[in-house]
Amino acid sequence: MRKYLIAGNWKMNMGPSEAKEMADELAAAWKGKTFNSEALICPPYVSIPFVVKAFRDTAFQTGSQNVHTKDNGAYTGEISTTMLKELTCSYVIVGHSERREYFGETDEVVAAKTHRVLQEELNAIVCVGEKLEQRKDNSYKNVVKKQVAAALEAGDSNDADRFVIAYEPVWAIGTGETATAEQAQEMHEYIRSLITETWGGEASDKVRILYGGSMKPGNAEELLSQKDVDGGLIGGASLKADSFSEILEIAERINK
Ligand code: PEP
Repeated sequence: MRKYLIAGNWKMNMGPSEAKEMADELAAAWKGKTFNSEALICPPYVSIPFVVKAFRDTAFQTGSQNVHTKDNGAYTGEISTTMLKELTCSYVIVGHSERREYFGETDEVVAAKTHRVLQEELNAIVCVGEKLEQRKDNSYKNVVKKQVAAALEAGDSNDADRFVIAYEPVWAIGTGETATAEQAQEMHEYIRSLITETWGGEASDKVRILYGGSMKPGNAEELLSQKDVDGGLIGGASLKADSFSEILEIAERINK
């Protein structure tokens, strides 16, 4: 059975003091409660230590929004898996559409980062998803197929437990527009079939496929109830403890 993963991507929001405040709020709200889902927050790098500290003695995990492929050296401004591990991060988001769009990350770069993350025994959340024009001109499945294929080449079926795909239609990110539950399920099922073709059925059954794109308390139940939707990657709604907690509560209630 696949555990839901409810992951917050804070993007370039929440400096150390705000991050500490919100992580403290989450920790207090869930104090003494256990959950079956995995709950994760990915703050900006500088805020990671504060969030880790606030989450100590809770089931919340902390992750990173990005990473470099090298371990150390002359790569100004970059952060390595070793550094993230030292901070006890467990997950790394790779290839978010904003990194692909604004920082020129190609499928090859995303694959190299995914490879590094898996090799270092961290969990990778690899983001894929089509742009609006690709949805409109019906090329969206091919676009996603190429992105998924590149990510799958970065590992093998033994990595299935630590390999997560986030399907995030770019037209739904931060726009308030959400894919319908049917559109999400169609793509998640398609992505799972691609994983089955490459890594086999046993592995693809273990891989979690998250939906991302304006997920909020009002639409989370319908999206999370879909057979192949195994959690959410949440931007805007993860910036408030109440709305993130509400989504986590919904996942706990469904707990399929
Ligand atoms: C994201 O950044 O991954 C995301 C899904 O953002 P939002 O929830 O704000 O659409």
